[in-house]
Amino acid sequence: MADTNDNTGQPKAATRQAETLFRAYMKAEGMRCTTERIAVLREVYGSGTHLDADEIYRRMKDRGIAISRATVYHTLDLLFRVHLVAKIDLGHKHTHYEQSHGVANHLHVVCEQCGLVVEIASAELGALLERLCCEQGFQLGSFSLQVFGRCIDGAAGKTCRRRRKAEK
Ligand SMILES: [Zn+2]
Ligand SMILES: [Zn+2]
Ligand SMILES: [Zn+2]
Repeated sequence: MADTNDNTGQPKAATRQAETLFRAYMKAEGMRCTTERIAVLREVYGSGTHLDADEIYRRMKDRGIAISRATVYHTLDLLFRVHLVAKIDLGHKHTHYEQSHGVANHLHVVCEQCGLVVEIASAELGALLERLCCEQGFQLGSFSLQVFGRCIDGAAGKTCRRRRKAEK
């Protein structure tokens, strides 16, 4: 996951580039480039985590941004279509979203018991997927994969948080 702000508090280059791409897309589509839409992009890129649409909406509300739930959902959809956010399935009933511009393809390992999500970027995995796609006559694009498992208590100094409230 990329940090979104540099040490001056300014948006990181990836966030600025994503904004430029998003503005260009909206202009090309004849859409109004509203500050609300840009704010949704910044919220996703600024969070550095995997939020669902309602969490994004609530965070924006808490920040005092006047935006409707429908606009948040619609904007996330647009951002997905232009490959600026990825949709991920963490085994909840809803979709989670994350930044996809300026981050390496990665794998999410999700604990079924406590909801812990660990990201793994692996060149080896990338090479394997590239080969598998190639064998089927495809060129590998971006990917975002989920693997479900269970934390092993004590492994890597981590304790499964299953007794704590799991992520919704
Ligand atoms: Zn991720
Ligand atoms: Zn766990
Ligand atoms: Zn969730």
